[in-house]
Amino acid sequence: MMGAALEALGLRWRYLRLPVEPALFAETVLALPGSGYRGANVTIPHKPAALRVATRATPAAAAIGAANTLTFDADGAIEADNTDAGGFLDALGEPPAGLRALVLGAGGAGRAVAWALREAGAAQVMLWNRTAERAAALATELQVEHVERPQRADLIVNATAVGLQTGAEESTALSDLGLDGLEPPAVAVDLVYGSEPTPFAGWAARGGARVVDGLDVLVAQGARSLERWTGRAAPLDVMRTAASI
Ligand code: NAP
Repeated sequence: MMGAALEALGLRWRYLRLPVEPALFAETVLALPGSGYRGANVTIPHKPAALRVATRATPAAAAIGAANTLTFDADGAIEADNTDAGGFLDALGEPPAGLRALVLGAGGAGRAVAWALREAGAAQVMLWNRTAERAAALATELQVEHVERPQRADLIVNATAVGLQTGAEESTALSDLGLDGLEPPAVAVDLVYGSEPTPFAGWAARGGARVVDGLDVLVAQGARSLERWTGRAAPLDVMRTAASI
């Protein structure tokens, strides 16, 4: 996706996969600017460490406590951002102000989404997680509402890993998410992406929901990183096509 975007922009940059041991994360990041890198995306398990190694952070990264984007600026600063939050809102495509929202999952993605919805003025942000204590603690921290079981909502976001395994039984997946018998929302966002619609997306679409899929969110968060590094508008269509392959 990033390679296609850079090519479409006519930039002779490369986007490389760089596996790093947690113990070597800070050392590796600090060596990148001097090696010609302009920035990096960071994923599990390095997101909290990415925030710690940065010299400054955007409000989103600071509030979420994790970064997925590092930018190496000309003044030597390393800026941490969390584009999972803004990318989710971009992909959502409508302001969540006034909506009753339910976030499934209290891991890193659930944290970014719940924070983004609260910041963007959702009327209510409910947080559910399989491990209830985790949702309760995060809800307290973010000042959103913890729910013991999923409730009816205008917007439901799947920020769990349920659906990641292709070929999973839909009934099992929906039961794992506590969605049995729940009325589908008007809008559903699934952060999980793959080659086929997930059980959550299928359930929501059958109920008449507008579904935003995980690839839309992936493209939107990647676009924000790319725009920060290059100062250019991201070629969203090129990115979406490349990500779908
Ligand atoms: P994470 O921190 O490891 O959290 C995983 C979450 O999934 C936890 O809430 C966990 O609940 C829940 N979970 C796992 N298996 C479950 C099951 N069988 N039933 C119910 N809940 C289950 O991972 P993450 O970073 O938040 O990522 C979550 C998902 O979002 C992943 O699929 C990831 O690929 C996706 N994601 C997509 C984008 C995008 O751009 N599209 C961005 C970020 C993440 P417990 O706490 O109970 O274990």
